Amino acid sequence: MSHAAQAPARIVIVGGGHAGMNAARSLRTTLRSDEATVTVIDPRSYMTYQPFLAEAAAGSVEPRHVVVPLREVLPGCEVLSGEAAGVRPDERKVSVEVADGHTRQIGYDVLVLAPGSWSKTMPVPGLAEHAVGFKTLGEAIYLRNHVLSRLDAAASTLDPKLREKLLTFVFVGGGYAGVEALAELADMAGAASDYYGTIGRDDMRWVLVEAAGRIMPEVSEGLGTYTLNLLRDVGFETHLNTTVESIEDGYVKLSDGTGFDADTVVWTAGVAPHPMLADTGLPLDGKGRVRCTPELRVEGQDAVFAAGDCAAVPDLSRAPTEICAPSAQHASRQAELLSKNVAALLRGGRLRRYKHAYAGSVASLGLYRGVAEIYGVKLKGKLAWALHRGYHLATMPTAHRRVRIAFDWLLSLPFRRQIVALGELHQPRREFDRASAGSRKD
Ligand SMILES: Cc1cc2nc3c(=O)[nH]c(=O)nc-3n(C[C@H](O)[C@H](O)[C@H](O)COP(=O)(O)OP(=O)(O)OC[C@H]3O[C@@H](n4cnc5c(N)ncnc54)[C@H](O)[C@@H]3O)c2cc1C
Repeated sequence: MSHAAQAPARIVIVGGGHAGMNAARSLRTTLRSDEATVTVIDPRSYMTYQPFLAEAAAGSVEPRHVVVPLREVLPGCEVLSGEAAGVRPDERKVSVEVADGHTRQIGYDVLVLAPGSWSKTMPVPGLAEHAVGFKTLGEAIYLRNHVLSRLDAAASTLDPKLREKLLTFVFVGGGYAGVEALAELADMAGAASDYYGTIGRDDMRWVLVEAAGRIMPEVSEGLGTYTLNLLRDVGFETHLNTTVESIEDGYVKLSDGTGFDADTVVWTAGVAPHPMLADTGLPLDGKGRVRCTPELRVEGQDAVFAAGDCAAVPDLSRAPTEICAPSAQHASRQAELLSKNVAALLRGGRLRRYKHAYAGSVASLGLYRGVAEIYGVKLKGKLAWALHRGYHLATMPTAHRRVRIAFDWLLSLPFRRQIVALGELHQPRREFDRASAGSRKD
């Protein structure tokens, strides 16, 4: 496929997250505008830097600073607000439900699939009604307001059983997303409790439930055990080899026989590839990811590439039968190679294989506490926490966003973080509806 002397090739990217946004940025700098047009389809107008979600929920970082507006960082690309609903590779078309409610068919010469993943849910009674995920900025902001509003409600109730329920917070899934969210929100709620005369840190119950026999599979077993002990030492309740059996009427029943009322259940029990992939006719692996060659091409397809959480890419740094784990690190690096390979395809060059040895993981467990494992070196405590901040600050897109985040952190040194529940953000029409109802009665 050489497009050098023809009309520009149409490159369509589904998803503007870690993989899609980085691929688009890199394609735009690699290919001239007379070689290719680049269209990015995403229902959100921004990329979410998920490793900072826990800090955004805890109020250490301003939520707007952890997202990257696509139109700001993708000059020269078309950004189409919509959700890809299906792909027909035989006709080279993507069907998109665009923001105005219509469905459009978008033709492509090269397609890049990067719609990421969804929260992996289970058929647990009451889950859909009572739990919330932790993958989006909306969920992070909601959780912050929700946790703080539980403190407000607990401080005002005269019912001791209700107070206990309001002050019980359950996190299901002990990967870094769940552990970071639990530790950061508990830290924030602990700081907030100083302002309530009637709620102490020990009045809150923070529970972590994990189906496996260990937490943090992203780090070595030793560091996972260290993290578990640290969580237990600071008072978190942990249940390993345990699943949630039901969450009916706010009563959480665990498989180890434990049961309690809880008003907050956060579901972070892993991710599943985006379900739209199932209807594409493209080859999928057992977990529902698109099967890719090491060149990041979808198997059996000349013009379809994939990267990030939705893609089953052989991990050549381990063994060809191993698949790259879903991580921001792989997604961004795959995006870089993918854009070079798409350029090579259009220019008639040679495609290269993806091989990246995972550098390691860093995680924050609340202010000044963290764990890290970098190229096999294990670190914990303040140093690991500083490394977490330093690493993610360095990989956050755009210089001005890095400066804003650094200032958020600096400002929290002389001033305490701002503790305020803005729950009304989730019901913006409530006050006006009440006013309108009142005026109808008059
Ligand atoms: C709380 C949390 C913390 C994490 N911390 C770390 C960490 O410390 N280190 C690390 O390496 N990884 C971390 N991860 C994992 C990492 O964020 C993901 O692996 C990474 O974002 C995957 O990139 P992606 O581009 O595949 O998906 P995403 O970045 O999720 O992007 C997918 C994009 O596709 C869009 N999209 C979805 N559906 C459609 C559709 N139908 N049509 C068009 N667009 C669509 C979405 O709106 C989104 O913008 C964390 C994840 C979470 C949730």
